[in-house]
Amino acid sequence: MSRFLSSNAAALSPYIPGEQPRDRVFIKLNTNESPYPPAPGVQKAIAGEAERDFALYPDPEATALRQAFARRHSLSPDQVFVGNGSDEVLAFAYMAFFDRGDEIVFPHPSYGFYPVYAGLFGLGARAIPLAEDYSIRLADYQETKGHILIANPNAPTGMALTREEIEKLLAANPHRLVIVDEAYAAFAEDVSCLPLLERYDNLLVIGTFSKSMALAGLRLGYAFSRPEQIAALERVKYSFNPYNVNRLTQLAGVAAVEDEAYHQAIVGRIKATRSRVTQGLEAMGVRVLPSSANFIFASHPRRTGGEFAGALREKGILVRHFVGERTEDFVRVSMGTEEDMELFLKAVEEMA
Ligand SMILES: *Cc1c(COP(=O)(O)O)cnc(C)c1O
Repeated sequence: MSRFLSSNAAALSPYIPGEQPRDRVFIKLNTNESPYPPAPGVQKAIAGEAERDFALYPDPEATALRQAFARRHSLSPDQVFVGNGSDEVLAFAYMAFFDRGDEIVFPHPSYGFYPVYAGLFGLGARAIPLAEDYSIRLADYQETKGHILIANPNAPTGMALTREEIEKLLAANPHRLVIVDEAYAAFAEDVSCLPLLERYDNLLVIGTFSKSMALAGLRLGYAFSRPEQIAALERVKYSFNPYNVNRLTQLAGVAAVEDEAYHQAIVGRIKATRSRVTQGLEAMGVRVLPSSANFIFASHPRRTGGEFAGALREKGILVRHFVGERTEDFVRVSMGTEEDMELFLKAVEEMA
């Protein structure tokens, strides 16, 4: 470790990304990427970008992308913020809305980055345990002391709150910002709280192109909110990295946003795969939480999560196991193609 390391950096517990193997070909079901390629228009849009333009900075306002995105969701462009992955957008939200020493409230288990950023920015973090059945208990979030951050559907459980439940949360906490991370909302049944923006100024919706839009490698995330909240994010961005979304990603984003039909088709396939895999596992006695995401959270009747993941790895299949009391017995399995998941089910059957 560097002898110049700041005490702040020394105290961090950094996020640990899922493995991206290079040495061996695995069926990769460990990081919730799309098993299908991006919309066909994406490649065309990128190929059309003249190489000489790479010498020039991208549009810091990402005008075309924000306009296309706003049009698609019937918002105005000043309600749209874009960033280098939604992790960055989340970091900007922490910087824009929280002061050192403030407390941020989120469920546990949930997305591992939430407490990591709290450490990085010197915030207090209150992790509220999920209920026995792994659902989020709304009653635990009434008039909280700090701003609220909820992934809906939640990760790694895949379980979703309804829009009505999110609305109750917004109404119960009018003086708190409620950030809803909708990384997986496209895979759920109409849970996005975008329609609530009209009525609630304490709502910030965060989303990503990494999962349902199949663009994890290009890094594109976004936030939707009232213009004053978006302006706060812009303030931070122009104090940190004005060119946070590169040229290729801006072009790809526009092309992706404009092909709604393609994304509906791949999301539909993934949802169909999810129900088949759930049924297949349950028939073998594996417990599967009800998922509204592109992954399932599953617990083997005779193996710990670590053992289950290890046995699958030996058969060339990567899934994710999270160390921790509530996650110990489970593995998170991203939905691959139909063929991938046939092989996955066969592997589980063989080890039963
Ligand atoms: C994958 C994921 C993200 C991060 O998405 P990027 O845009 O790739 O940074 C954010 N939140 C949750 C809950 C996720 O699962």
